[in-house]
Amino acid sequence: MLNIGVLNIQGDVSEHGEMLKKAFVASGISGNVIYVKDRKDLEDVVGIIIPGGESTTISRLLKSTGLFEEIRRRALDGSLGVMGTCAGTIIISKNTGDPRVTPMGIIDIDIKRNAYGRQYSSFQVMLDIKGLDSPFPAVFIRAPVIERVYSDVEIMAKYNDDIVFVRKGNIFALTFHPELTDDYRIHKMFIEGVGGISTGKE
Ligand code: GLN
Repeated sequence: MLNIGVLNIQGDVSEHGEMLKKAFVASGISGNVIYVKDRKDLEDVVGIIIPGGESTTISRLLKSTGLFEEIRRRALDGSLGVMGTCAGTIIISKNTGDPRVTPMGIIDIDIKRNAYGRQYSSFQVMLDIKGLDSPFPAVFIRAPVIERVYSDVEIMAKYNDDIVFVRKGNIFALTFHPELTDDYRIHKMFIEGVGGISTGKE
């Protein structure tokens, strides 16, 4: 049984949960979705999604619950996969470009928040993504951009010249919202990635 968490602080929490459930079925892996509010909830999960929302708020609440340090520690020792989407990506980066958002530093990328300006703040495009055989409907909402990618981070997708999805092993960082359409292929990719992590409890 694979337990995957969704950080339950703010944002599209239930939407991610529903996508994970569909992706479990599609991948033939049996698993549970755990809504993570505190450190205890994190104990048996091998992967966690940090949803979009407001990165300043999520960052503050992650720190006050102790989850910030615990997610960081486990991501760095390889016992936890993390998928950040939009605000989640800002949080897991190495440089957030905003002193109010402490970077978790679990994937070596630099971020610029709210990179698309007000007029063009929300849009949907079909994106070519490495490993997927047809384009993915990507929804961007007041999205950041990945301004710089360091050495061993793999670029999974670009929109025009902007890097919008990167991966390093089981750490995924997306600037868009894969939970807002009915396409669960990125959730499935994440499940298959963290499927290799053992909790030692089976
Ligand atoms: N603009 C938000 C931030 O900077 C992110 C938006 C989102 O997650 N959809 O925190």
